[in-house]
Amino acid sequence: MIQSEHHSFLDTSVEFLKGVGPKRAKLLNKDLRIYTFADLIEHYPFRYTDRTQLHRIRELNADSGNVQLLGMMRRVSVAGSGFKKRLVARFQDETGSIDLTWFKGVQYLQKIIKPNQQYLIFGQVNSFNGRLSITHPETELIEREEDTSEYTTLVPVYSVTEPLRRSGLDSRGIRKSMAHLFGQLKDADVPETLPEYLIQKLKLPHRLPALRMLHFPADWEQHKAAVRRFKFEELFFNQLPLVQSNSINKRTIKGPKLEQLGDAFNRFYNEILSFELTGAQKRVIKEIRADVRSGRHMNRLLQGDVGSGKTIVAVIVMLMALDNDYQACLMAPTEILARQHYDGISELLKPLGLTVSFLSGSIKGKKRKLILEQLQAGEIDILIGTHALIEEWVVFKQLGIAVIDEQHRFGVAQRAKLWAKRTDDKPPHILVMTATPIPRTLAMTVYGDLDVSTIDELPPGRTPVETLVRTNTRRTEIYTFIKQQIEEGRQAYIVYPLIEESETLDLQNLEDGYAMVKDYFPEPKYQISMVHGRMKAAEKDAEMQRFVRGETQIMVATTVIEVGVNVPNASVMVIENAERFGLSQLHQLRGRVGRGAKRSYCVLLAAYKRSKEAKKRLDTMAETTDGFKIAEVDMEIRGGGDIEGTQQSGVIQFRLADLATDQNILQAARTIAQRIVTDDPHLDHPVHTCIRKQLKRIRKSKSSWSRIS
Ligand code: ADP
Ligand code: MG
Repeated sequence: MIQSEHHSFLDTSVEFLKGVGPKRAKLLNKDLRIYTFADLIEHYPFRYTDRTQLHRIRELNADSGNVQLLGMMRRVSVAGSGFKKRLVARFQDETGSIDLTWFKGVQYLQKIIKPNQQYLIFGQVNSFNGRLSITHPETELIEREEDTSEYTTLVPVYSVTEPLRRSGLDSRGIRKSMAHLFGQLKDADVPETLPEYLIQKLKLPHRLPALRMLHFPADWEQHKAAVRRFKFEELFFNQLPLVQSNSINKRTIKGPKLEQLGDAFNRFYNEILSFELTGAQKRVIKEIRADVRSGRHMNRLLQGDVGSGKTIVAVIVMLMALDNDYQACLMAPTEILARQHYDGISELLKPLGLTVSFLSGSIKGKKRKLILEQLQAGEIDILIGTHALIEEWVVFKQLGIAVIDEQHRFGVAQRAKLWAKRTDDKPPHILVMTATPIPRTLAMTVYGDLDVSTIDELPPGRTPVETLVRTNTRRTEIYTFIKQQIEEGRQAYIVYPLIEESETLDLQNLEDGYAMVKDYFPEPKYQISMVHGRMKAAEKDAEMQRFVRGETQIMVATTVIEVGVNVPNASVMVIENAERFGLSQLHQLRGRVGRGAKRSYCVLLAAYKRSKEAKKRLDTMAETTDGFKIAEVDMEIRGGGDIEGTQQSGVIQFRLADLATDQNILQAARTIAQRIVTDDPHLDHPVHTCIRKQLKRIRKSKSSWSRIS
């Protein structure tokens, strides 16, 4: 029998709070997922009414908005009759007087509002026929001058649902109940979650005072201090488990020790590499080298914008494995991408006399059998291919490093399959490459258990893609421009958002588009490829290959055109209905051009009418080609949780922290989490008991959430 844990005051059902009761408690459960006192105190205000100011009647005018006055209630009387019946009063301070009117609750208010007494009132100034008045002001009787301090604060406003409001629990009701709860809370009820030394060092308020300051701040200073504390707390407890798991992996999981830099690496560097590596490439290679020679297992994400030169980094890293008598593999998400890598890399490494092989689902029979035998015998140095590489029947003699290109199409499960290809119980080092830049903050919260290396610099001598935003009425002009480019021997992409016309969206149909393009670019002078999601993989590949080989000049496609496909000769990317695309998608598509030395163009065709967000996306594309900047804007527009490819990774919704603006706090939280985990890996030290307890609480509430939803 498990002993039930000590029941704390905060675990009390919200039903038992003054002003709530069973009926409203049900609504709080259902609408706001508030079950206990603890849940209620974490229902933070979403804004505050500023009642810190006291106004004077003489200074008021029709535009004063919400005001707060301290004065005497005079001449309280009932006017009119029937449904025009109302309570009126004259309110006076040392500078003048103003009319007050109530239409609702006249009988009740008549008994409550006492003439010739001092009141603090709050409400909106109206002007009627040049006379100022306040309708339905909030009133508080002030018996002693000191009482005003209780009211002249920032008043919290809570979000509630319509059923709650109808049940009488509006924002004001929650405020009253909350105030009541805070009146009962003692220090012991709200355990501190952060160690005292951190509180001191970061000058954070303690948890209970911080909660008070968040719900009932005396001024904006207090509010700021409280928000800072809880943002830190949220981010700290997000980072800690990630940092912990990363550190546990590092301490306990061994990887192949790749210490030697030998012939392969040196000859490649000195004899083959025809350009100087960028500073960023050198830096990430050093970071990776430090990992793979350490004897610990590497689990690293390599981010780099389109064209930043990740492939060369991958090649160099694979050579490190070869120099230590290990094999390496490179996996790409599609056949065509894998083939491109294979063609490029085997050509590049030819002078070194290495064996580079290709494997995909389409390699069958004898050919496949031979490759598998060679692989197991250690006769293949580098294997390049598709998902086929991770199948169980693919057995390496000694796999040292696995590189995964264009990570966002590979899940955690696939990574795990690679781990299984271990030698002497040492899983291969894993380098995941992605060209979808995600803001650093998001990378930290999503891939916090991977180490992240970033290539934040493009090779020199690139001409940035020129981006034009045009209304779709100017399509013919653009087509004429494409003709000129084709005359000069270049190729063009035209991308459509959908394959079939949807009933609700009036989108350009790809088939229509294809017909239109064909009309304008007649055969045989022009050859056009078309690729879309409904085609079989083999058909798609064949069509892509025609474009890659230059047999067709125009590629009409949906967004299925392969991420990472390299056709340096293509100089124009036209995107139809560009307002329908997300920023990261637009950026990826634009990355298909500008891969050669000549000038390239990206034309975003959009409807004249654009939403505010669509306009922001198009403007951003026109302004910058920096993938990281674009990712930041994307996050601002959509919020971290919606960034493409991150939903599955379980991005956490923070209550207060904002990944777009709280980078500094996040960085601090991570650094501190790292220091703590280094000094006290299991959080055994008594000063860290509070952290351990909070982690347990978070885990518990997460699991009860997943049971509910
Ligand atoms: P991506 O990061 O998008 O995968 P690639 O690895 O395909 O980029 O590199 C894009 C192009 O830039 C390739 O043609 C590559 O040879 C070239 N490149 C890579 N690094 C450099 C460099 N340091 N200097 C000049 N060109 C480079
Ligand atoms: Mg690439």
